[in-house]
Amino acid sequence: MPELRKLAAPLLIGLLAAACANTGAVQNIQPGERPDLETDEAGLWMRMDREEDDLRSSGQLVEDPKLQAYVEGIVCRLTPDYCQDVRVYIVRTAGFNASMAPNGAMIVWSGLLLRSQNEAQLAYVLGHELAHYIERHSLKRWRDMRATTTGLAFFQVATLGVAGGFAQLGALGSIMAFSRESEREADRIGFELMQRAGYRGDEAVKIWDYLRREREAAEDDEDFVFFASHPPSQERRDSLAALSQAGGQQGRVERDPFLRATAAHRPGWMRDELQRRDYARVSVLADHLLDAKTDPGLALFKKGEVHRLRDEEGDAAAAVKAYHGALKSGKAPAETYRSLGLVLWSLDRPKAAQTAFRKYLGQRPKADDRAMVEDYINQLN
Ligand SMILES: [Zn+2]
Repeated sequence: MPELRKLAAPLLIGLLAAACANTGAVQNIQPGERPDLETDEAGLWMRMDREEDDLRSSGQLVEDPKLQAYVEGIVCRLTPDYCQDVRVYIVRTAGFNASMAPNGAMIVWSGLLLRSQNEAQLAYVLGHELAHYIERHSLKRWRDMRATTTGLAFFQVATLGVAGGFAQLGALGSIMAFSRESEREADRIGFELMQRAGYRGDEAVKIWDYLRREREAAEDDEDFVFFASHPPSQERRDSLAALSQAGGQQGRVERDPFLRATAAHRPGWMRDELQRRDYARVSVLADHLLDAKTDPGLALFKKGEVHRLRDEEGDAAAAVKAYHGALKSGKAPAETYRSLGLVLWSLDRPKAAQTAFRKYLGQRPKADDRAMVEDYINQLN
């Protein structure tokens, strides 16, 4: 990676030179604190500031001031003292992840918002990430790595780890595997933060369990970036469960405000997931949303889509069943009719397919694919 080397080398020399002055124990970062210019930490921040600028102009951010304010509100409730120090970036991308850069840039993937069933679950994950910031885990990690490998490896891991060229996300911290000790600490502190903010603690265990289920179902876990840096061990799950046993059954869950804040985006976010074509995973995700009664129409529609696209034995009939369930819920997207039409056509039921296509056009008279769907109807005559 010659370009990276060019980019990173001068900075690294600076960081390594500054390192000698920074051998003491790492203290928690204080509200409003910025590292002294002479320190290795300042170099780390500078690097992250640059990545943050790139992220800001990446075109990948979810532009929704209300949602933005909503998520920032949760961060401020969790850590009122650090409210001014943390900047939240909601990035449109499938998959579960959140990360925290040492300079206070917090990245929340839309896939995390899609998978949270309520505000309490989201708050736990954000609390965990905030703990990494407050405890300066990135700096600890950076110093550990520098002690054991060349400094360049750190930035290679940090900037090149995310497949698909989403470099800035990796650089901003998501790919850095913290030590087990740091993770344990973040689990515990994240839990404390959520409880102190009045959220119901056992929701933390629920989202953790869900993630394990999704990961087990996945065809490959390559893009489980969060798990690359956050191994979901039984031990961590059990510690969380033990914490929540001691008083985790009280507090707010805040399902409705959460659903209100995310509702408009969920169909698009669901589409992002399906585009990865890991059908078993989307199916588990759809069940998870059904379980919380989050958007049953959308969840059942996506279950139908999984069957339709996978198209193995029995899938067509299962798709029809799921689409009917979606339509019965009264909140299915209009596309449900279009997909139903396609599957009925493949099942050699032309009249029923025509009816479904007509209903689609009835609900979406200005659909982009109107001409094509009209053509389907004619072919079925
Ligand atoms: Zn973590």
